[in-house]
Amino acid sequence: MIKFLDLQKVTQLYATEISEAVQRVVNSGWYLQGAEVKRFEEDYARYIGAPHCVGVANGLDALIWIYRAYIELGVMQPGDEVIVPANTYIASILALTENGLVPVLVEPRLDTFELDDCLIESRITSRTRSILLVHLYGRCAYTDEIGRLCKKYNLKLVEDNAQAHGCCFADGRRTGSLGDAAGHSFYPGKNLGALGDGGAVTCHDKVVADTIRALANYGSQRKYVFKYTGRNSRLDEIQAAVLDVKLKYLDEDNEHRKTIAKIYNEGITNPRIILPTQMADNQNVYHVYPVLCEQRDGLQTYLERHGVQTIIHYPIPPHKQACYKQWNLLSLPITEQIHQQELSLPMSPVLTHEEAQEVVRIINAY
Ligand SMILES: *Cc1c(COP(=O)(O)O)cnc(C)c1O
Repeated sequence: MIKFLDLQKVTQLYATEISEAVQRVVNSGWYLQGAEVKRFEEDYARYIGAPHCVGVANGLDALIWIYRAYIELGVMQPGDEVIVPANTYIASILALTENGLVPVLVEPRLDTFELDDCLIESRITSRTRSILLVHLYGRCAYTDEIGRLCKKYNLKLVEDNAQAHGCCFADGRRTGSLGDAAGHSFYPGKNLGALGDGGAVTCHDKVVADTIRALANYGSQRKYVFKYTGRNSRLDEIQAAVLDVKLKYLDEDNEHRKTIAKIYNEGITNPRIILPTQMADNQNVYHVYPVLCEQRDGLQTYLERHGVQTIIHYPIPPHKQACYKQWNLLSLPITEQIHQQELSLPMSPVLTHEEAQEVVRIINAY
């Protein structure tokens, strides 16, 4: 059985160092708001290339806190509109509706899966305050046109970097540093994954960072003094210590993903399968390897029967979900096509080249 992602093996890669880090925290007697989180925040900020980093409980909260901070600071108000790709994981959309902001769902390009920058300007109104740019599947979604629109209309550019740790834009800057603020998830299956939930915000503005740190700590900047109605949404010391170990190997892990992608790119020749368009080497960290196939469900069953595990990212788009009934009748054909045809092949830092070649052989025989 070739697993989509063998997390046990991923953790085993760095087991000794991870165990040492966990043991250090266990022995320290200090489990929250301590030196481990502080060190990871500094290391991660430096890695991403942003001046500030705040560890939080998970990736969804990271995005929620960014917009909540903008509302607390008077930059946005509930009812304001945010441009967001229609084909994203539900968390991007939840972060907006949780804050009373109005998601404006914009179609992606079929060849990149990323937000189509030609469709943005016609959707901007006097209520638009931000673009929430999702680097879906590990691909850099930023374009110069998106930067130009943000400047022209004074929009906050917020990045959802949950799937793209280590990815770069063409000019070498890392995703997560390209806009005003970025939300990062350290869910175990992400390119940089913790041993449980974790997340972070990186941003360029110290006031935004301080506001988010307070919001994620009951709304408090000073003990027993509460400026905002916040929540408890902190990254803990054990997860931070684990993440700091894994951060050192992130580039190496991403390089391995690229060698797997190369085997798929060069090996898969089955005309019924559409491969993802290739990007420059540093602009795709292959969080997943998405292919399109008209007979997607049949392909998935066939692969399962031949011992290859795959996952669909994602089977139902946000606008077709029961929680967003008001959008169920919207027509977003590109988004719907991706959700009907997408299949993610096995991809991870521990997938062997032999396994990838086996996947290629089985797919070409379909
Ligand atoms: C995983 C993910 C999130 C949410 O992160 P959690 O840590 O699971 O809350 C947000 N956006 C995208 C695009 C994701 O893939």
